[in-house]
Amino acid sequence: MHPELVSLLSHCRTLPTLPGVALRMIELAEDPATDLAMAADAIALDPALSARLLRIANSPLYASAHRRRVDTLSQALALLGLNAALSLALGFVVARTLQPDHALAGMHERVWQRSALAAMAARLLAERLQLERPEELMLGALLQDIGILALLHAMPERYAELPQVPLQGPERLEVERDHLGGDHTEVGAWLAGRWGLSGYLQRMIRGSETIETGDRTLGCVVAAGLLADVWIRPDDDHAREQLDQVAAALDVEALDIETLLERLSTLAPEMSALFDVRIHREEHAREIEQQGRELAMIRHLLEREDLQLAVREATRLKARTRELDDLVRRDPLTGAYNRRQLEDVLQQAFEEAERRREPLSIAFIDLDDFKLVNDRYGHLVGDTVLREFSQALMRMLRASDLLARYGGEEFLVVLRRCGAERGKQILERILADIAACPLATVDGAGIHITFSAGLATHGEDARFVDAHAMLAAADEALYGAKREGRNQVAMQARAEYSPDPA
Ligand code: GH3
Ligand code: MG
Ligand code: MG
Repeated sequence: MHPELVSLLSHCRTLPTLPGVALRMIELAEDPATDLAMAADAIALDPALSARLLRIANSPLYASAHRRRVDTLSQALALLGLNAALSLALGFVVARTLQPDHALAGMHERVWQRSALAAMAARLLAERLQLERPEELMLGALLQDIGILALLHAMPERYAELPQVPLQGPERLEVERDHLGGDHTEVGAWLAGRWGLSGYLQRMIRGSETIETGDRTLGCVVAAGLLADVWIRPDDDHAREQLDQVAAALDVEALDIETLLERLSTLAPEMSALFDVRIHREEHAREIEQQGRELAMIRHLLEREDLQLAVREATRLKARTRELDDLVRRDPLTGAYNRRQLEDVLQQAFEEAERRREPLSIAFIDLDDFKLVNDRYGHLVGDTVLREFSQALMRMLRASDLLARYGGEEFLVVLRRCGAERGKQILERILADIAACPLATVDGAGIHITFSAGLATHGEDARFVDAHAMLAAADEALYGAKREGRNQVAMQARAEYSPDPA
């Protein structure tokens, strides 16, 4: 890095400094005497941070490790583990610290979107490659572009006016070096050093654009960034080639890349919520832009009083908007509603049931021994089973019912205007049908699967305080069904009811 750039950054007043809570996380991570309780105390001082850690512990990212909801910070830390929790906490604080505060928010957002996706991709890769300390890798991937963010904070105009080349790749590094006297990997590593982040993180950031590396952990961070690029722009052939090259060096096969990209799609809404950044594929963004253009055309037709054509165009646009809306709400693998949408719909259904004094039933469904399907036949067959299961279920439900994927192999069914007895009958019939027909075939043999379900009903002889309490009761009932030997539907314990106030 050119000394002038170093001096400029060192004296820059718009470059954020790390807040106390981040410094405390670094300190705790370095101190061998740190235990979970100390970490919990430090994190608890920051309610927003505590909420994020709770959320990530309950997210599908950790869904395979447990299925009981985590309600307290200390449970979350126990589940995540000390080092992982400290890494994640540090990631959240840095993300918050480098949030945009000016007109270049669009560029910031593009960087964060890629970083959040890369963080998730790094974790999935670490799992796939059985690397140690996956959360540290996740943090490395998350922070790989803090150099760009630092430059955007320190010299927004100058950075935005650089010759227009993609935000990643050798061209960008060259432009940065030519015009500013250093590239964003150097700036990022410098900032990490100044902030007191570990040498490991500084190395990951510095090497994050190195395609040929003999280092597996670094390769994982680089591959994670490229996975994010390919996810955002599926037709970016250059990124795809580089990804293939890095993946081959890591022994990750083409099929695995596709699976990883699909899992990124499943987890994207969760990362979006965790890092407060919109995550979407460019085709969606392009589609939205296109809609804007069409809207302008309709306005133009209206001005020309070409009403017939305007109405026709408007109808077409409306249908496309509906399709696009629906796409954003659904889980790409199974076609069921995604978790974020689930929360909205469940809330609505609950309010509607309250208002109309109609019963509402919901069922938590968890496939039995699904891990065995993956272990025996591989993840791709596992994915097929999930997709077929979800589609069979959607066929069996009424149009007013709703199916959402809660995460992993867990689903939630919302049965409107349905009491407990009928709910149980419906689910038992579905269970029998699902168990009877194979959901996939491997070498001519059908794969059969069963599930366990926990049912909760609101509004018959008692009521829940809110939708969340209802969800908790269904979860509890599901746990009971698993305990009793799986392949069955359990109703929530009556004691869980709160008395009807009316
Ligand atoms: P149980 O009967 O207790 O529910 O056992 P289980 O094996 O179904 O439960 P566990 O929670 O241990 O494992 C769930 C498995 O689901 C582990 C995880 O790898 C797998 N899984 C989660 N999401 C996906 C996915 O999108 N695709 C595939 N193929 N597998 C997934
Ligand atoms: Mg499960
Ligand atoms: Mg299961």
